[in-house]
Formats: sequence, structure tokens, C-alpha cells
Amino acid sequence: MHSRSIWRPYTQERIAAPPVELVKASGAHLFTKSGQKLLDGISSWWLITHGHCHPRITEAIASQAAKMDQVIFANFTHEPAEELAEQLIQITPPDLTRVFLSDNGSTAVEVALKMALQACSQLGQPNKQMFVTFEHAYHGDTVGAMSVSGDSVFNRPYGKTLFQTIKAKQTTLSTAPTKDYVSDFEHIIEEHHEEIAGVILEPLIQGAGGMIFWPPDAVKQIASLCHKHDVLLIFDEVMTGFGRTGKMLALDHIGVTPDFLCLSKGLTGGSLPLSVTMTTEKIYGAFLDSKKDKMFFHGHSFTGNPISCAAAVANFQVFKENNFTRNLELIEAAHNRSLEKLKHKLSIRDARVCGTVAAFNLPTESDSYLSSALDRLTTVTLESGLFIRPLGNTIYLMPPFCTTQDEVETAWSVIGDAILKRL
Ligand SMILES: *Cc1c(COP(=O)(O)O)cnc(C)c1O
Repeated sequence: MHSRSIWRPYTQERIAAPPVELVKASGAHLFTKSGQKLLDGISSWWLITHGHCHPRITEAIASQAAKMDQVIFANFTHEPAEELAEQLIQITPPDLTRVFLSDNGSTAVEVALKMALQACSQLGQPNKQMFVTFEHAYHGDTVGAMSVSGDSVFNRPYGKTLFQTIKAKQTTLSTAPTKDYVSDFEHIIEEHHEEIAGVILEPLIQGAGGMIFWPPDAVKQIASLCHKHDVLLIFDEVMTGFGRTGKMLALDHIGVTPDFLCLSKGLTGGSLPLSVTMTTEKIYGAFLDSKKDKMFFHGHSFTGNPISCAAAVANFQVFKENNFTRNLELIEAAHNRSLEKLKHKLSIRDARVCGTVAAFNLPTESDSYLSSALDRLTTVTLESGLFIRPLGNTIYLMPPFCTTQDEVETAWSVIGDAILKRL
């Protein structure tokens, strides 16, 4: 039984399979009402870090909920938020000293965009009002976040209303040389830097655009061009943050400090909504004044929710207690072994692995996200106890960190069999 009133996200309700009712989630698994156990192959839309209902996180939520629920954050502070800020400062580069809290990834991006625009104008560069964005980028579903995303089916229906950005070309070939990623960008920034406030990108992996991997060197060169031309750099690590790529943050692979860092999905271990936009002393300083009109005009009802903050602090504890990099290495190794086997069976040419993320593209008649050929794959693998949700023809796994090597290898063979036999 399911309600006819619910309108599901990213779902064509007329043709979609009816939703499966879940009653429990634990570790790497989801449990259905009809008694099936499913491996959560995509960490529930890229959120879950150490596993569903991790006892440390669940306890922190329960105990904070009993003590203090939501309070207005403009006038007050509290230990969960203070502690969270401390933890964030410890895992990020030293120049990122300021933490602005909000409650979802799109909003973390909006905050960075607004801060960048206002900072430029308050630092005496009022002509800097444009953003450079990359093809295939995805930064969220709110209007600002859609504006800075690449043109895609996600934002096409709203195209006329979105604000203008300068789009830099981006290759989808993960083996392409660094210059293919950088040359168009370099040209843009040299030509237009006087009107460019900032550049936004997903370092290392463009997620929703199709799990497109960038070489760390390309991102490094982009960062140094930004620096050279006095353009602010925004890293959207909403997906790549919190261990997903094998290190705590994608920027740890790159060795670059951006002016803004957006984090969300894995921040609370995936348990509750929360996000942060971190920035530097220089940006923060641009908002300080004896008059109020230079303050940052932004805040949400649920800013700094103590329960979410407590969950995030507990998530940090679990990162410290577990030898998490070891788990991530094991998952990465299992991905590599499995894809090596599948490569030959399915003649895949673009298998790619980075930490817990592994993907390949199936050659289909249409590359489009809207192609329904692969919807069947979700249905077929569900029968074998695996939940996945391909992005168009991009098949990927991104399991929680507690997933065993056996489970990863089984998942890939379920996918391989489904493709070979049923599609
Ligand atoms: C998911 C995602 C977002 C949007 O986060 P929401 O919490 O869904 O609003 C932004 N950027 C990236 C890179 C994402 O993967």
C-alpha cells in the first residue's frame, strides 16, 4: 500500500515502478516490508558513510534530541555547533577558518555564490559578478545551483530563468591529457577575469553529470589560474567529501586550498540534513563593518540544528575510531578486481575507480539520462538483492564504507549478469 498523494523526487510517476516500502536500514543494507535484504549500492543517494543507523550516530541523535531540539542560531550558540566547527577546522586546510551552517548541498552552494558576489563588491571589485562553471557540472537543484551547473536535462526546463554563467568545456574521457581540461578555461579566465567573481567545480569527480573523473593536476592548474587572476575558487565537495574518494576530502588528493568549500551529504554520516560552507579570513573580513548593511544577508530556519550538529560530531568520532582509510582501500581494491573481470565480459573501455566510487558507461543507442533502457537494470538487480540507480548509461557503485569486499564483488557480478542476460 502506498499513498497516491506523494510526489517522488526525480521520478516519472506515470511509468516508474511503484516504490518499494522499506522498514529498516542497518549497515550497508536496506530491509523491505516484504522481507528482502538489499545492499545499498549507492549509499542512499551518496549520503551514508559508515553505514545506516551507526550506533554512535544514532545514540548522539537520541541524546541531543532529548536535551535540546531546534533553537534560533542568530542569537545563540551551543556545544554541538561549536564542536562541529572545531572538527571541520581540523580536517580542512589551515586557511579555511570560517564555517557557515545550512541544511542541504544546494544551499551550501548558494551560500558560497552569494558570499563570493557580496565579498567582491565589498572588497572594491563591483564589476566581478560572473561565475565560470564547467560542462557536466552538477551543483544542486535550487535556482542558483542550477544556474552554475552544466546544461543538462536537470536544468533545461528552467533555462530561461537561470542566471548567465560562462561555461568552460570539459572532456568526459578520464584518460584525456590535462590540457584538454584546462585550455578552454585558461582562455576564458585570461579574457574575462575582470568580470569573474568565482569559479565553481566538483574536484576530482563530477558526480551527477555521470561520474566523470578529472585528473588532480587539471584541478591544480585551474586553482593556480584562479589565484593568478584574483578569481575566487569554490570547491563543491558535497558528494566527494567525507571519505568517498578514499581520502577525507577530494582536496587532499589535490593539495589546493579553495576560497570556499561546500560540504553536506556525508557530513552527518548521512543520517540528518546538514551542510556547511567554509571560507577564509579574507572573505569573512569583507563582511565586517560598523554598519549593518555589509553583513551577510542569509540564514535558514533550521540553521545550526543541534541534533544534526550532534550527528555530525558523532560521525567525526567514528571516522577517528575506525581505520576508515583501510576500509576504503579494501572497497577500492574490490572495485578494481571486479571491473577487471567485467571489462572483458562486457567490453567496457572506460572503467574508472576512485576510492569507494566505481563506474563505467554502457554503450547504448542513446547516452541520455532520460533513456529508459537502463531503468530495467534497477528492477533486475533488485531481484538479486542489490539497489543501484544508474545515471543514464553510467553504471556505478558507491557503497557505504562498511560494505565488505565480498559484497562489493557480488554486487558487480549481479550487475554484470543482469547486463549480459536480461538487457
Ligand atoms: C547532491 C549534490 C548537491 C546538492 O545537494 P542537495 O543536498 O541534494 O541539495 C550539490 N553538489 C553536488 C556535487 C552534489 O553531488
